[in-house]
Amino acid sequence: MEKKFYLETFGCQMNVVDSEQIAGLLEEMGYEPTSIPEEADLILLNTCTIREKAERKVVGHLWQFKPLKESNPELIIAVGGCVAQQEGERLLEQLPHVGVVFGTHNIHRLPEMIQNAKKGRRSHEVAFLDKESRLRLFPTRRCDGSISQFVTVMQGCDNFCAYCVVPHVRGREISRPSTEIVAEVRRLAENGTREVTLVGQNVNSYGNYLPDGLSFAGLLVRVHEIPEIERIRFVTSHPRDISDELIKCFADLPKLCSHIHLPFQSGSDRILGLMGRGYSRRAYLDKVAFLKRVCPDIRLTTDIIVGFPGETEEDFQDTLALVEEVRFADAFTFLYSPRPNTRALNLQDETPGVVKQQRFQCLLDIQEQISLEVWAGDVGKNFPVLVEGESRQGNGQIFGRTVWNRIVNFNGGSELIGRTVPVKIIASYKNSQLGESVKI
Ligand code: SF4
Repeated sequence: MEKKFYLETFGCQMNVVDSEQIAGLLEEMGYEPTSIPEEADLILLNTCTIREKAERKVVGHLWQFKPLKESNPELIIAVGGCVAQQEGERLLEQLPHVGVVFGTHNIHRLPEMIQNAKKGRRSHEVAFLDKESRLRLFPTRRCDGSISQFVTVMQGCDNFCAYCVVPHVRGREISRPSTEIVAEVRRLAENGTREVTLVGQNVNSYGNYLPDGLSFAGLLVRVHEIPEIERIRFVTSHPRDISDELIKCFADLPKLCSHIHLPFQSGSDRILGLMGRGYSRRAYLDKVAFLKRVCPDIRLTTDIIVGFPGETEEDFQDTLALVEEVRFADAFTFLYSPRPNTRALNLQDETPGVVKQQRFQCLLDIQEQISLEVWAGDVGKNFPVLVEGESRQGNGQIFGRTVWNRIVNFNGGSELIGRTVPVKIIASYKNSQLGESVKI
């Protein structure tokens, strides 16, 4: 009987891609996936430490698996990703039922570590690799025929924003050679993929230190040339590094979806300075204006941090004013959470928690209202939807996305999967829309 693995992924798209690689390695070892932890021989959590809350959730979750290990001593519990990278051996000390801890650069070591765990040897590996070794280990997406796939183009970050743990748990920035990326997208396209999202911590600095000098805009052009690919997206962009050349791609490359995720974090120049973001409020707004000029139907999404150390009421009002000016289609809003090894830990913070919480709620309410209005504006209009599969609600509907990455559920047959079809939006909800097919 085949052994089974249960894999849970937390956090960003980088972890999603890493989990694909982990699943591939486990399948090569003879494991098959299961969605039921109770029937698994191997439980693996791929973790995120970007917020303290996310980290606590992972550790709490790991404790829940302890009774399973007690009733099945053969069960192997493994922890990977950013919490593993940050905590290393401490996780083994804290969680006696965990057998394997592997960091963000050590996924390739997993098979050997699992073999050791089978022999009762618990182990951890969290060493950062040098650039040469990392280049050989970029994950390749499996060709499972999914209509939409993520493709890693770079990893790590050199920016060291004052609040961010990423450079400490993912390492320094490294770009993957363009020939490899293009070959991977071609393979995916031959197997049915129609949309790719190019992912990296800061895709705008793609190509730094690569010998061929190709910029991220140049990479987009090469991916755009692949005939079967109908849509291209990318994430995440740093406002300081987004070039005019890249912004013009929204006008010049028809397959590039008119949506960009551009985190602004704070609307106050003083707080942006403390964060070390490297741009001003004015510079951010100028980039937004340029994006809207070259691509009038573009929609923006963003990340915002409330309650950064030293944030005054005036700073917070600057953030609200920017939100109201840009009118983001969606925003990920976060209450600042102190992370180990980051510079912000040394900043004075006298704002009471209750005030931060009130500001957070106020921002949430304003952004929710804007999002509702933006998406409600689609009702009654027709948009092309790339159909990805059967609807998750299981009510006989199919689902796809608009160019703005909004999920649309509508009635239609499975023969439409993989095709781009016109759909009329008839209702808009918080996270999705309802549509109906339009006769062509
Ligand atoms: S750009 Fe800043 S926020 Fe983004 S990953 Fe790098 S350090 Fe973190």
